[in-house]
Amino acid sequence: MLAHRVLVQTRKGPVVGIFGSQPPHLLADEDRKKVIEPKAMFIDVGAMDGFDVVKKLGIRKGDFVTPISDFQIMSNNKLYLAKAFDNRIACALVCDVLSAIKPKTLAGPLFGVGSVQEEVGLRGATTSAWAVDPDLALIIDVGIARDTPGSEGGAEERLGSGVSIGVFDAGMIPHKSFLQLVIDTAEKNKIKYHLSSMERGATDGGRVHMSRSGVPAVSIGPAVRYIHSHNSIFARSDYDATLKLALAVIKRLDEKTVAGLIGMTRGAKPAAKAGKK
Ligand SMILES: [Zn+2]
Repeated sequence: MLAHRVLVQTRKGPVVGIFGSQPPHLLADEDRKKVIEPKAMFIDVGAMDGFDVVKKLGIRKGDFVTPISDFQIMSNNKLYLAKAFDNRIACALVCDVLSAIKPKTLAGPLFGVGSVQEEVGLRGATTSAWAVDPDLALIIDVGIARDTPGSEGGAEERLGSGVSIGVFDAGMIPHKSFLQLVIDTAEKNKIKYHLSSMERGATDGGRVHMSRSGVPAVSIGPAVRYIHSHNSIFARSDYDATLKLALAVIKRLDEKTVAGLIGMTRGAKPAAKAGKK
């Protein structure tokens, strides 16, 4: 974060600042080698002696700070650059899915959810899954691209590798039959895909699949470089593959298929549950 530009979002409007740091010239030799802890960092908003940031700028405790990191198409114009593609990508995908779907072709209602506070404990996923009470959930989140120096090693999860279909993460082992349906759908429609796993980290699926009496869920999405940093990169073709797969999966979810998938999870009266929606 050091030396990055940010905006402090105050009640009076955004205030530009930077993460300040000690020049290396002033540091002792042993301190130069150390990683600076977040609690030792500060944001310089241009204050000088006697300048009151509360009175003059309206800054107060609890204000959010956002990195300045504008969207840009890269010189390799297949790749897009900006902050927070994890998980603004899925918000865009959900919008694209909802605008491409013809409601009459659906077996039941389709909900698109953009949930809040995933990164700090899957909180929005908890409340939204309870409110929607879905029969099935297709979770859209980013994968971690492993195609940069230091993370090579033949990993399939690379920019341009199509849609990632999650087979395991720290929060969810996906419903096997639903997972198989998603994989089959990718193959039948010749959508470029790969299977991915993540030992640390989870998606909203971690909560959604445990909502109420259980919800069969599978997570899909494009691989992204440098997630959780101020700049991240993804390939447009992986976005398009994810959209294509989401639409093709939804198209296959007729009443019988949904009832079959729910029946394996919920046991009693799967058809009644499917009929309700
Ligand atoms: Zn994340």
